[in-house]
Amino acid sequence: MLQPIGALWLPEDDEPTLEEAPRPVGVDSWSPLAPISLAHHPYNRCEVWACVSCHLPFLRYTEYGGYYVERRIRQLQANRVGSPS
Ligand SMILES: [Zn+2]
Repeated sequence: MLQPIGALWLPEDDEPTLEEAPRPVGVDSWSPLAPISLAHHPYNRCEVWACVSCHLPFLRYTEYGGYYVERRIRQLQANRVGSPS
């Protein structure tokens, strides 16, 4: 079971950027290999949740398309946080 911890967007920022961080060719933004850049989309719009039993942190994001709503989740891996060099 997951419980909400917080969110990654800044309280004064009504419209976080849709710009994405550069990532390796062929790596989807939700891949475990993608960098987690907190200043870029989609991570600037994520909520942080944690597992109640093992405390592993997860990032959740709800994507609203024209005809769909997609819920995304990935583990918050500390070694992926930051912009790629
Ligand atoms: Zn767990």
